Amino acid sequence: MATYDLAIVGGGVGGSALATVMAREGYSVLLLEQSETYVDRVRGEWIAPWGVAETRRLGLYDLLRLVGGHHVTRHVTFDESRDPSDAEARTLPLSIFADGVPGPLCLGHPLHCQTLLDAARDAGAEVRRGVQVTSVVAGEKPRLTFEHDGQNFEVGARLLVGADGRASQVREAAGVTLHQDKPHHWFAGLLVESADGWDQDLQAIGTEGDFGFLAFPQGDGRVRIYGGYALGQQHRFKGPDAARQFLDTFAMRCSPMNQHLVAGKPAGPLYSYINADSWTNEPYAPGVVLIGDAAGWNDPIIGLGLSITYRDVRLVSELLKSTDLWNTATLRPYGEERRERMRRLRFAASLQAGLDMEFGEAARERRRLHFERSASDPTLGVHGVAVMAGPEAAPAEFFTEQHRARVLGPLEA
Ligand SMILES: Cc1cc2nc3c(=O)[nH]c(=O)nc-3n(C[C@H](O)[C@H](O)[C@H](O)COP(=O)(O)OP(=O)(O)OC[C@H]3O[C@@H](n4cnc5c(N)ncnc54)[C@H](O)[C@@H]3O)c2cc1C
Repeated sequence: MATYDLAIVGGGVGGSALATVMAREGYSVLLLEQSETYVDRVRGEWIAPWGVAETRRLGLYDLLRLVGGHHVTRHVTFDESRDPSDAEARTLPLSIFADGVPGPLCLGHPLHCQTLLDAARDAGAEVRRGVQVTSVVAGEKPRLTFEHDGQNFEVGARLLVGADGRASQVREAAGVTLHQDKPHHWFAGLLVESADGWDQDLQAIGTEGDFGFLAFPQGDGRVRIYGGYALGQQHRFKGPDAARQFLDTFAMRCSPMNQHLVAGKPAGPLYSYINADSWTNEPYAPGVVLIGDAAGWNDPIIGLGLSITYRDVRLVSELLKSTDLWNTATLRPYGEERRERMRRLRFAASLQAGLDMEFGEAARERRRLHFERSASDPTLGVHGVAVMAGPEAAPAEFFTEQHRARVLGPLEA
């Protein structure tokens, strides 16, 4: 039976990044990816400034820029309760959140994954695609079996890594419990091309009527757009014209620049997800560590899955490089940091969803009051600092129920 230092299940951003970093250090790495090609799954294309800083620390940033990673440098929050010119007057520069980072980095997810998978192979990892993992055994002698090209294999490893996303087979086999919040809203996304009038340095969000939008340019007239709507509207975008209907919903009075999105063309599938948070208390077990979505994910409303994943890769790789003893005690600092990180980000996401993805009279009034009060009290927007600069950048008292009541106001108190 072949044995490796690391056998990684899942060659998405998390698995491929970890494989690259560890193979560069001379560890033997097997990377198993089930898909033959990466396709647009409508996810993961905006890396927050603190996540960009993580890519730098991992030595991966230059690669992402080389294949077209595009920095966005300004942000506007539109809303039906204020005039578009007021919103534009409050445009936020995005270079203020991480040293030397001009702003969030946007890159198509399939290209992002392929770039890292190629980097893992170049660094010396053994990469296999089109693989079906048939069994995973955690414990003191971790091992797994898989089928590839019509052949069956069994391999052992010092450590198995579950980087196999939300429905992680490795998490299941290791008996790690996943906790989940109640769903909050529907969240649909689409890639748009030929949105030529959209300012490619500018990201925008906004809420009007029964819809909240987000738009993140990727360069060359392409913009990744998302829209949130109430849980009761599960059939809202269905049928052959769904993508067009979705795009037309972006015609909003509060954000006149959305006309450039509406003028664009759908350039990929429209998928809808139910947004909620999930987490694991200990993202490891004997012989196994989980990273990225496999270890629990944050509500995509604040777009941090990639930043979280890159932080996981850095922490786990640093711990493994620091000692030859790879056991659960070695991984404990990762678990502790991740637990608090995800608790804070879950809190930040619930505030953002409470503000942007609730609809109707009461929600509109809550947002109006929030804008009014936060103009004189910037601490009411500190959850946004956690999103952009990292959850550790905001003091602990901003992740409490008292702070939630301050932000969401008397309606929630
Ligand atoms: C609608 C939506 C929008 C999002 N937008 C953003 C955003 O803008 N910014 C951001 O930072 N995050 C965003 N995210 C989250 C982000 O996409 C994820 O957090 C990120 O992709 C996690 O990476 P990962 O490598 O852990 O998992 P995944 O991306 O899920 O990759 C897992 C990989 O494992 C493979 N795999 C799965 N099972 C097996 C198996 N048994 N054997 C072998 N291979 C397997 C899969 O094929 C896949 O390639 C979004 C998520 C959603 C749902």
